[in-house]
Order: sequence, then structure tokens, then C-alpha cells
Amino acid sequence: CAYTDYTGWQHKQFIGSGEFTLEFGDYRVAITTPDTFIVSASGELLNQQDVLNRDQQDRLGIARSSHRPVFIVTPEEALENEKKEATGEKTWIFEARNVRDFAWAASPKFIWDAMGVSVPGGGQTMAMSFYPNEGEPLWSRYSTHAVAHTIEVYSRMSIPYPYPVAISVNGPIGGMEYPMICFNGPRPEKDGTYSERTKYGLIGVVIHEVGHNWFPMIINSDERQWTWMDEGLNTFVQFIAEQLWEEKYPSRRGEARNIVGFTTSTHQVPIMTNSEQLLQFGSNAYAKPATALNILRESILGRELFDFAFREYSQRWAFKRPEPADLFRTLEDASGIDLDWFWRGWFYSTDHCDLAVDRVVRFHLDTGNPDVEKPLQKAERDSDPEWISRKNNEGLTIRTERYPELLDFYNSFDEMDVTEEDRRGYERFISRLEDGDAELINRTWNFTVVQMRNFGGLMMPIPLTVTYESGETEDFRLHAEVWRQDPRVVSKLLVTREPITRVEIDAHMEIGDADRTNNVFPPEIDEQRIRIRPERDRSNPMQKDRDERMRIEANLAAGKLGKDIASRMKGIGSQPVPAAARILGDVDPYTLIDPWGQNFAVFDSVDDDECARIVSSGPDGKPGSEDDISWQVLKDGSVDEIVIQDED
Ligand SMILES: [Zn+2]
Repeated sequence: CAYTDYTGWQHKQFIGSGEFTLEFGDYRVAITTPDTFIVSASGELLNQQDVLNRDQQDRLGIARSSHRPVFIVTPEEALENEKKEATGEKTWIFEARNVRDFAWAASPKFIWDAMGVSVPGGGQTMAMSFYPNEGEPLWSRYSTHAVAHTIEVYSRMSIPYPYPVAISVNGPIGGMEYPMICFNGPRPEKDGTYSERTKYGLIGVVIHEVGHNWFPMIINSDERQWTWMDEGLNTFVQFIAEQLWEEKYPSRRGEARNIVGFTTSTHQVPIMTNSEQLLQFGSNAYAKPATALNILRESILGRELFDFAFREYSQRWAFKRPEPADLFRTLEDASGIDLDWFWRGWFYSTDHCDLAVDRVVRFHLDTGNPDVEKPLQKAERDSDPEWISRKNNEGLTIRTERYPELLDFYNSFDEMDVTEEDRRGYERFISRLEDGDAELINRTWNFTVVQMRNFGGLMMPIPLTVTYESGETEDFRLHAEVWRQDPRVVSKLLVTREPITRVEIDAHMEIGDADRTNNVFPPEIDEQRIRIRPERDRSNPMQKDRDERMRIEANLAAGKLGKDIASRMKGIGSQPVPAAARILGDVDPYTLIDPWGQNFAVFDSVDDDECARIVSSGPDGKPGSEDDISWQVLKDGSVDEIVIQDED
């Protein structure tokens, strides 16, 4: 519990999602366990000579200067250890300085690996992992590397890791952090294989939980009050670390386009909400602040300025108690850029980003030269679409056809024809122009005004990509200030050498724009895919009822056939089991027909207690289709329908 000048005692209870408010302290802890146990804890092990054997001490020494994880306890030794009876006790002594908390883990099943890490901008530390054989081969491959990677990336982004060890332990919960030690859940299947999700789940959670050493274990924010101040900032740096792990790392949170589902959802509260009032917890406190900071870094301040300011925040508030305003103020102060509008939109509102291109207007410079301008105007006039009445009057006799004498000067005069008077006027105009203006008038600049609209309400800079006639593209970036006078509509004049043929907002997916169909001008046809599904009349209860009765009959028939097959196989005794199909000749042919009039198919079994499998092609009579029904025949003659389950 903490006492501060601004809130007094923080007396709110721990409620799981709203976590701790803690003070720093020094710990010296002695843990006595049965002598088969390996113990891991926040802090440095002070008496390794009392608790580790000679080999283990040597290996720990080697690990210190190794660039790859080294086993202190090997998987084989852990298996041995687990079977041993304890013969006595050992006391492990740990020391941790300047930490908010202390945690430990002990087990006779632990494999232990470690490697030394040079902390960027700091000294040396040890990245270590403790896990049972059930974690293999996943844990020895990834855990300690992920710990080391976290130390390297976070030390550069924040402050150098100040503690002597950083530990990842395989435990029963998904992920939980303490100073210097954290517990992570992912494990492979029993057969040692693992899914992609488990692999990246482990790497991601280790980075995340080790990352909590900085936020909030060192930059000591009040977790009970502001979940986002530790989870959001940590998820942000986690995203950076993940993207530096391997190319195209599948990060769950951080990328701008992934936040759209949340920012456009209905039940939302601002990021600046107390931990117990949060809705959509993970999106609100983890993903949205992480995404906002990433946008601030990539699209608003740029990496150099942002990284400097973010490090400055970490340095100023390390081992102190920052509040949200301290983060906002420090990032503005250190970057020298006013970001009030950004905090207001992303942290204090639930507005989302949806910018659109409304209109694009191309202006041509009038040269004043009648020989240039008048033909252009004439062509424009003559390209007017033909309007309906004139079109429908075509072919009707008009009066001037009947009385040609009604035609006069104006019927052949075209005001768009160039006259000598026009030319003399142009000469006079040119003679009065200054040299610079005369030159300007002959330049072929292109003036394009792009009008943009803000539908989502969130103030954002506008990343604009234009395509020229030649097919080349150019990126422009309009600062969020453009919305200062009118937060809904803004126009921007672009002066370019080549004519612009296409305009797109957010071409590089950086601002989390919710509706991308209105980002392009001229608009494009929205390409979607539809699938044709076979028609099924679901409103035919009569047919359903019949199918249901037929299924019961099919079950009975398969049961009878199965019993027959099982008893015949039993009769064959200890001979090698013949193919089930081979005994079908002896089976009453009538029992082989399913209720829909097709033969049951009978297959050999792959399983030990099974003697055969029976398959009916179902109501449609076609084998291999969705309505097929299968049964397994067990050796005792019982027959069970096989219900195929989808994977989670
Ligand atoms: Zn967390």
C-alpha cells in the first residue's frame, strides 16, 4: 500500500484486474525446501555453494559469459531429480534491492537454463528460465531467448535493466509478473508438438511479463487506479520487441489497423477510466494505449523524437510514482511538441478515426491567350451532355427549317471564335505584365484542391498519397493542425508538376482509419467475395422428423450389424485379425442395407479396442458427403456413433 501527497493512503482493495499500488523495499529471503527442490526467486542467489552441486556451479559460471542458453539442470537430470526421495533440507538465500515485491517458485521438476546478457547502457544480468519436462521442447528453445530479447529492447526504449537476474518460470497461469521473476503458462502438447499459437503465445507472454519489470515495477504507476499505465505502455514496448524478434511477427496488439474493431464498437469508455470501471478490458487498457503510442511514434513525432521523449519519461519517473498527467507532460516537454489534442482524442474520448476524401478539384491557370483559352472553352461547351428534351426533339421539323429567312447573324456567330479584337486585347495585357508574371503564365503547374472530411471525430494528421499521370506516387503529410478551424471539413491545395490522377488517405495503414472505402478518390468498386451455398430448406419439420426417425433406424441397423461382426471376429480366435470386410460374406446380406437402401460400408479399425468401423452414406445416399454417419464397433460388440468434434 502506498501513501502519496495527492491521494493519501491508496486504500482500494486488490480486485484482480485492478492490481497493486506498492512501495519499494530491500528483501533478504531464506527459503527452506526438501533437498530435491530447485528454487527460483526475485533477487540474486547468495549461497549457491550451499544449494548447488559442483557441476551446477560450474555451468552457472559458463552461462554468465555464454551467448546462448546453457543448462544448469538438464532435462535428464530434472527427470532423475523428480523421482528421488528427499533426504534432507536446503535453505536458499536471495537478496533483492529496490523492488516493489518479492516472489518465488520451487519444484523438484525444474529444468534450469541461463545465459548472460549485456544490458544496453548498463552492466551484466542473467536471463534464466525454470520449467518442467512438460514444457519441452518449447521452453528451452524460446523462453530464455525471449527474456534476453526483452532486456535488450526495453533497456534501449526505456532505462537500462537495473537488476542482477530476469527469470521466466513455467507455471499454471497464463502470465503474471513480479520484480525479476514472472510466471508464464504456454506448454506444448504431450507428444512435444505445438501449434503456432502456442509458440507465439509463449514468446509474446514472456516478453510481456518480463517487460512489466519496467512498467510498473520500476516506473511505478498506480496499477489499482490506472490499468493502462502499466499494461498499455508495456504492450506498446512489447509490440516493438516482437517486431524485432523475427520478420512479420504476428503481434496481437499494436498495429493501427487492428484497433478499428474496438474503436468503432458500441460499449466503450475512454482509456482514462479507473480499472474497475473498464469495459472491454484488454482492448481498452492494453491494445488502445499501445496502438495510440505507436501512432504517436510512427506518424506524429517520428521515431527519433518519440524515442528520446519516451526514454526521458522513463528516466524521470524511474522508482517514482507517475500519474497520467506526468506521462502526457513529459512527452510534450521532452519532444517540444504540443500534444494536448492527441491525449484528448485518444485518452479522454471514445472518438474513432474515419477520414474521407470528399472532393478533388483541379484548377487550370487561365493564360489569357484567346488562341489557347477559347478553343478549350469551346471544346468544354460542346462536350456538354445532350439534355433530354433536345434529344427527344431530334427528327421533328423545326420552324427555321420551314422558313430559312428567320436565320440571321447570330445563328452563325460563335462567341467562342477568336476575333482580331481578342488578339489585340491579349497583346495589351502581355505588355502590361511584369517579367516574372509573364513567365509564370507560361508555366505548366498543376493546382489540385483536395477536400477531406472527418467522420469519426478523432483529430489525426492526414497521411496523403497522390498518384500522378505517369503512375508515380508521392506522400504528403498534413499535420493535425489542419483541423483547427473546422474539425469536420478541411481543404488542401497541392501544387505539383504533374497532374494528379488519384488521391488516397492512409495508404500505409498508419492511423487506424475505420472505413477505408471512402479514403480513395476517385472511389473504387468495393471488391468482396460471396459464396454459393447449396440451398437447404430449414423450414421443413416434416422432413426433419422423418430424417430423425431414419437415423434411429440406422442406429439400430448398425448396432445389429456391429454385434454380428464382433461375434464373428471373436470366433476367429487368436488368429491374426482378418480384414473386417473379408467376413462380410458370412454376414446376413439383409443386415448390410441401411434405412436409405444403400449398403453400409465396413472398414478395418485402427484402434486397439475397436474391431471395425461402419459407415452409412446417409439420407443423400452419397458416400463421403456431410450427412454420412459413422459408428465404431468395439470388441465387446457394442456400437457407438462417432460424433466428430471440431478443434477449438
Ligand atoms: Zn500485463
